[in-house]
Parts: sequence; structure tokens; C-alpha cells
Amino acid sequence: MKTIYFDNNATTKVAEEVLKEMKPLFCELYGNPSSMHTFGGQIGRKIRKAREQVAGLLGCEPTEIIFTSGGTESDNTAINGTLTAYPNKRKIITSCVEHPAVLSVCRELGSHGYTVVELKVDKQGRLDITELEEQIDDDTALVTIMYANNETGVVFPIDKIAELVTNRGVVFHTDAVQAVGKIPLNLSKSNIDLLSLSGHKLHAPKGVGAMYVRKGTRLSPFMLGGHQEAGRRAGTENVPGIVGLGKACELAAKNIKEENEKVKHLRDKLENTILQQCPDSMLNGDKENRLPNTSNISFEFIEGEAILLMLDKYGICASSGSACTSGSLEPSHVLRAMGVPFTAAHGSIRFSLSRYNTEEEVDYTIEKMPPIINRLRELSPFVST
Ligand code: PLP
Repeated sequence: MKTIYFDNNATTKVAEEVLKEMKPLFCELYGNPSSMHTFGGQIGRKIRKAREQVAGLLGCEPTEIIFTSGGTESDNTAINGTLTAYPNKRKIITSCVEHPAVLSVCRELGSHGYTVVELKVDKQGRLDITELEEQIDDDTALVTIMYANNETGVVFPIDKIAELVTNRGVVFHTDAVQAVGKIPLNLSKSNIDLLSLSGHKLHAPKGVGAMYVRKGTRLSPFMLGGHQEAGRRAGTENVPGIVGLGKACELAAKNIKEENEKVKHLRDKLENTILQQCPDSMLNGDKENRLPNTSNISFEFIEGEAILLMLDKYGICASSGSACTSGSLEPSHVLRAMGVPFTAAHGSIRFSLSRYNTEEEVDYTIEKMPPIINRLRELSPFVST
């Protein structure tokens, strides 16, 4: 059975072009970029090129890029590195819909005496900018707000937020793990100070990521040890991963516009048909300001996990908004924060597409969804017949 992969916000396929660039770095060009010999120097040049490719996609200077092990490390570094650099400030402002890579770090800091403000969102998952403005004070060290939400795809007005925050003299970080490679970004025209990205969300491998650190931004290193990354992140570089990330960014920069159109067309077809053909279904999140690849749909009175299992029988991979997969029966904190009723939050499914999806895959899924939903409704104790 063919796998139909609609779970690209969880991770993506490594692009063939990316793999090709990475391959020589394992058994041929395996030197340590910090070594003095010519062999090591060759590897150093590969990292330099990758840094330029990442900077090219983001519209910043290569010296403003630090390679990390992924989105989680970048987020942890941005938050902890800023607080260490501003030891007299004790307040962090974030949003209640962040990924755990941000939210759990902030909550941990909250238990160590920091004041942590989690900004609320409305029914469509939008932030209240006025609340943000009111919360910024002299004690605020950092505002960290995600660029795009991993569950709903909702995109926040980050350039506007960055301007507002930095005009008040506060450092602004954005977790752009879901945005980079999916929507165009131009950091040369933005006030963002710190930005996190992750390779495996844009067709590079897992275990590599990067941080943008705007020139002049105070940030203490999080990983201590050797002098790699100009002393900003210790540890021997994941050279194949970095080279792969560079290539993935180059491909994204080249193709982002046409890929967006293709992916959005497929996503809209999938979403519109499901919403039309499945009664008691609704879209979660701001329809207008959304990633082009993400659709989060709630089906009242049934379990998201049951839908996933039935889709899985047909080789269709999606994801559920509820956290049951991670051992908790609580529905997603994002959907709950948006006020999605419990019965609908439990029955939510996220489809996240990529450039590798096809019209045939969408047609196949559209055909399978209504009978699955009807069957589960027949079995649901919440639906009276
Ligand atoms: N931030 C967001 C918004 C994410 O979606 C993810 C991964 O799902 C991460 C951070 C963590 O990234 P990584 O898996 O590279 O550690």
C-alpha cells in the first residue's frame, strides 16, 4: 500500500537534492572543520556555503546564523541565552499557543522566580496585540512569540509585533520552525532579534537547525565547550546536517512561490471538500492568515484518534490535535486556548501537506473521509440516532 503523507508539520521527507549534497560528507569529506589541515579546511568551506544559503533564504547576513541541533535547541538558546544576558530583568512574555519547546521552558523559568505572561488568543487563534503592549514593562527581558502555529497553521503578524516590542527596548524572539521554507521571510526588513528554525520541517534531515541572531543582539551561549560557531554554540558541527540544511534553504528560496501555490491549491481542495461533505465539521484557525499547507478540522462527537486509525488503514498519515499520542487524554492546548468545545477539540485532525503531495492523493483522501466520519458517528455514544 502506498503511503500518503499529510503530516509534514511533524516532519518532512529529505529532498533527493539535499541527500545528494550530504552523502560525500560521511565517508569522503569527513574531516573536522576545526582542524588545521587542508582536509578540515575543505569542510569549513562547506559550512560557510551552508551559512550563506540559510542567510539567503532569510534575507540576513551569514554571520547572523548559528547552527544548532534543531528547533528545540534554538528555542531554548534564545530564551535562556537572553535571560542570562539580561540578569536584572525577570519577566518573559509569550503566547499560550506556543510549541512546548518554548512554553515548557518559560513555565520552568516561571517556577524559578521569573514572571511569565502567556498571552491569550481569540476563537480564530489570533493574538491580542493590545494585551501585549500593556504587558511590556521595564522588567521585561524577552518577548517570544511563534511565527506560525504548528497545529492550526495560523500566522501571527510577526513583523508588526517585532517592531512594537523592539521599539520598547525589549528583545524579540520568534519560533519560526513552521514558517521557514513555507512562507517568504525577509529579516533585512524586520525588527526580529532572534529566530529559530529546524531542518526537518523543510526537507532537510532531523537533528539540525539554526538560529538567526541579529547583529548586536546580546545573547549568552547556551552550549559551552569548544569555540565552534565563533564561540556562540559549542560542539563539533553536524556537518552533513548543516550542508543538507543549506541545500534545503537554497531550494526553498528558489521555489517557494510556485510551491506555495501548488500546496495551497491541494490543501484548499482537500479542506473545502471535507468541510462540505462531512456534517458537523469545522475549520480551526484564522482562515486568511494561515500557512498554505496546513488544515486543522474538527469533527464533532468523534475521537481524532479513531479517525487517524481508520485513515491509517488506507495508508493516509495525518495527525490529531489531541495529545493522546503523547500519553495524555487532554485535547490540544492550542485548540482549548481558542475555546474550541471539548467535543470538537477531541475530534480534530491536522492535515499538513508538502510539495511532494499530488492531486491523486488528495482525491483519494477526499473519497475516504466521508464514509469514515459517517461510520464513526454511527458508533459514537454522543450522537443520538
Ligand atoms: N517549534 C515548533 C513550532 C515546532 O513545530 C517544532 C517541532 O514540531 C519545534 C519547535 C521543535 O523542533 P525540533 O523538532 O527541530 O526540535
